[in-house]
Amino acid sequence: MQNLLTVEATQDYLRVNSIDEALAALAIGPRLILAGGTDIFPRLQDRQLTGHVLDISGISELSEISSSTEYWHIGAMVSWRDISDANFPPAFDGLKAAAREVGSVQIQNRATLVGNLCNASPAADGVPPLLTLDAEVELSSKSGVRYLMLTSFIQGNRKTSICADEMVTGVRIPKLSTGGNSGFLKLGTRSYMIISISMAAIRIETDIAGVIVNAAVSIGACSEVAQRMLLVEKQLIGRSLEKAVDQIDSCQFVSLAPIDDVRATAAYRRNASIEIVRRLLLAQKTDFENSVMTDARITVS
Ligand SMILES: Cc1cc2nc3c(=O)[nH]c(=O)nc-3n(C[C@H](O)[C@H](O)[C@H](O)COP(=O)(O)OP(=O)(O)OC[C@H]3O[C@@H](n4cnc5c(N)ncnc54)[C@H](O)[C@@H]3O)c2cc1C
Repeated sequence: MQNLLTVEATQDYLRVNSIDEALAALAIGPRLILAGGTDIFPRLQDRQLTGHVLDISGISELSEISSSTEYWHIGAMVSWRDISDANFPPAFDGLKAAAREVGSVQIQNRATLVGNLCNASPAADGVPPLLTLDAEVELSSKSGVRYLMLTSFIQGNRKTSICADEMVTGVRIPKLSTGGNSGFLKLGTRSYMIISISMAAIRIETDIAGVIVNAAVSIGACSEVAQRMLLVEKQLIGRSLEKAVDQIDSCQFVSLAPIDDVRATAAYRRNASIEIVRRLLLAQKTDFENSVMTDARITVS
């Protein structure tokens, strides 16, 4: 094994420089995959990192964001900072807004979007915006690559469907799911460096009259796994943005299952989630009205 892989440190800490090397190591036996380490190290508190570790932070091919005719692809070492700096279409504005609110600037420089998904916290900021984009997780092993919808990848609180010989090499987003505009908001007891009470992401497509023709709404921190609000989406389609804002209380957020904890009661979480979605819709309405006014000014001049 020492000949096969580039080992930069002794013991069972292995730092590799290519995906092939990483997959070869995982084929020999399971290892804890270390990306930015911003979830792994705080969890250790004052203990040392032990066991079989695979450090993938030196794999440059994982740091790329690319685009083909059908998909956007975000590599497993792409940081939150890379996401907020990327040249994505407006459907990614929600993901970018999430990127700007993860931890602090230092965390955003180091932490990866994929690490956030693999950690599978109910309050992971990356999940709701990616759900609105129908994101798929790319799982690679020596035997090949498979893609899972994000909804199938995250199976519960800190549970994913990754196998011991696999690593996540990236996330892909179908271009068919990148229409319209998007947003993300989270609520905590303060603005930064806090675990969210609730968070929501939306992606909305409207016709030229401002009537919603396609809607994706997801909510995090209010159930074991963040989820798409499929009933709410159905109820929004066909409504004007104005009506959507005014009537959001009548939509069925029935699949939410918030808990009481030190941060908030379940009832508060449910009400706050609906209010967050209302504010996101209101922002879409304001943007739509501003774009109509700009178009009118251009026509007049
Ligand atoms: C001060 C502070 C503030 C934070 N604030 C926020 C916040 O506001 N919102 C939020 O959502 N999170 C927050 N976090 C949590 C953390 O920063 C994010 O979850 C981050 O995106 C994790 O990425 P990472 O690269 O550091 O993952 P790591 O810590 O390296 O890994 C996390 C988990 O994913 C696994 N993993 C990583 N990459 C792969 C891969 N390619 N394949 C398979 N498994 C993999 C690891 O084995 C580990 O189990 C915060 C953390 C800190 C320390």
